[in-house]
Amino acid sequence: MRLFLALMPPPSLRGRLGALADAAQARCGGRRMPDESLHLTLAFLGEVEETRAAALVDWVSRLAVPPGEWRLNAWGRFQRPGIVWVGGQAPDPSLVALHCRLWDELESQGLEGRPSRYVPHVTLLRRAERLETEGLPTPALTWRYNRFELIQSITDARGSRYVSLAHSPER
Ligand code: ATP
Ligand code: MG
Repeated sequence: MRLFLALMPPPSLRGRLGALADAAQARCGGRRMPDESLHLTLAFLGEVEETRAAALVDWVSRLAVPPGEWRLNAWGRFQRPGIVWVGGQAPDPSLVALHCRLWDELESQGLEGRPSRYVPHVTLLRRAERLETEGLPTPALTWRYNRFELIQSITDARGSRYVSLAHSPER
């Protein structure tokens, strides 16, 4: 099964991120992420066997992480797949540290796929027609988090949807 580790936004923030996605889509076109799919990927694990997935559920359920606040104050773009995202002006040090810590532990469990760089971001649009975010109001959101989740990504005829398999203990 296809898995990743993510922060999922609290309901109030989800609505605000959705409003940013609407504003971005009006400007850039493309496919808007549905509100229920908005997230921050901490680590993409890819295809994982059932037995390893069960071990990951157990690991996530025990791994409390430091709570934090992420300031979302910038638009961003990834040229190649035409992604428009919201995130920080620079990679948030606490999220980068969390990403590193998670990958240290994942690698000690034998998982592979650690990326060479990590830019914390929330994807709002896919396949944007115009990668132009100039002129959009500057985002100003704060994301308070105290846990992360293990998510299964399921692709069917209607596209991808996410199912939460486990979350870390809240701090
Ligand atoms: P689809 O690929 O069908 O458009 P999706 O991208 O939402 O749907 P996944 O591809 O399963 O679903 O990705 C889940 C999360 O992991 C997303 O945040 C995605 O950006 C991220 N992701 C996917 N592939 C990679 C990768 N190779 N490296 C880093 N992050 C990835
Ligand atoms: Mg994908």
